[in-house]
Amino acid sequence: MYQKSGFRPATTPGPLSRRSFLQHGATAVALAAGARHLLSAQPAGGDFDLLVTGGTVIDSYSDTNKTADVGIKAGRIVAVADRLDRSRATRVLDARGLYVSPGWIDLHAHIFRGVNPLGVDADRDAGVNVGVTTVADPGGFCSDDFPQFRREVVEKSVTRVLGFVNVAAHRSKPDAPMQGDWSLFDQELTIKTVLENRDVIKGVKVLSSVRHAGNLTITPTQLAVQAARETGTHVVAHIGMAPPLIQDVLNLLGPGDIVTHCFKGFPMGIFHRDGRPVAEAWKALERGVRFDLGHGQGSFAWAAGRSALRHHFPLHSLSTDIHTGSVRGPVWTYGRTMAKFLHLGYPLPEVVKFATLGPARLIDEEKELGSLSPGTVADLTLFRVAEKKVVLTDSLNNRETGDRDVEPVHCIRAGKVISEMKIPPAA
Ligand SMILES: [Zn+2]
Repeated sequence: MYQKSGFRPATTPGPLSRRSFLQHGATAVALAAGARHLLSAQPAGGDFDLLVTGGTVIDSYSDTNKTADVGIKAGRIVAVADRLDRSRATRVLDARGLYVSPGWIDLHAHIFRGVNPLGVDADRDAGVNVGVTTVADPGGFCSDDFPQFRREVVEKSVTRVLGFVNVAAHRSKPDAPMQGDWSLFDQELTIKTVLENRDVIKGVKVLSSVRHAGNLTITPTQLAVQAARETGTHVVAHIGMAPPLIQDVLNLLGPGDIVTHCFKGFPMGIFHRDGRPVAEAWKALERGVRFDLGHGQGSFAWAAGRSALRHHFPLHSLSTDIHTGSVRGPVWTYGRTMAKFLHLGYPLPEVVKFATLGPARLIDEEKELGSLSPGTVADLTLFRVAEKKVVLTDSLNNRETGDRDVEPVHCIRAGKVISEMKIPPAA
């Protein structure tokens, strides 16, 4: 729910209006925070448009985990220090009691609402209203409808929107395999679409599973690899039920390519029945292949997370795979997904890295995103780790009770503060 107001289902016809946010969202946030985190305005001081003070700053890039102030000017971070002069700031945001991290990045969220049946609202369900400042849609758009995606989602969202183009250039009929028909493919168009839209498109998405590829089995994966190599970008491979075999998919991937849904339950994922990662996953890791969560409705199993920990198999990026079928559970939000990794036993700074620097590196954006380095864009997430009982459910409907939730309180997108946060119910 938006704090203390009703949870709005993903299928409601539009994002909450500004007025509605102010009535239901911001008010509740202010109440929840004891009105302590409100902005205070001062006469224009000059050095900082916005100063975030007194929070616990967690920044993996500089290995920072301590109380500090963050100074922002013209939409960019200009200083991080133990204490910055309040009198030099136009506005001050009191972050005492909160963690301050680079803006969260979700590399797997379906946000082409109204066109893709899976699509949820970019800002309200996947982006700034759940503390996420950058969202990438993996294959929710095809080459032929990318112009519409750019117009209606990229340009209209407050959240920074990126994506990976679907290797099928054309959208299949509803309920038909998305990549199971030759007539859907057009490599020339796909490659051209990537090359002409590198500001948004970070690579090529393929669905390497029988449900999506049908009789074409491994061929769409081969086409995605070819398109990524031609464009100097990365493949994002969704893994699932064979064919193609997970081993064959992994063997095709190279440095910088991404496996999403990496903590799927046996027999679909990268782990054997007894929890050992398959040999090809270790080899892929050594070659520089990267592993992304993609929780979703069917792709995160507690057992796989625990196998990864036991065998020290790394995770590079946390992502929700939020869509119409996962937004009201089991995923709910990005923060709730982070809470699941705290529950598994990952330390908070590591979970924050999975949410910030990790995904920034996967899309070659670490010079701009994923850190609090002076000069980078001022995308930040301010959150609390709430000590409370919370029911955490994996994609196989296994429910566990955690004792911490991760709740965004504000996020800052290119220097602009957004405080209307959606927090899912605890049970
Ligand atoms: Zn997905």
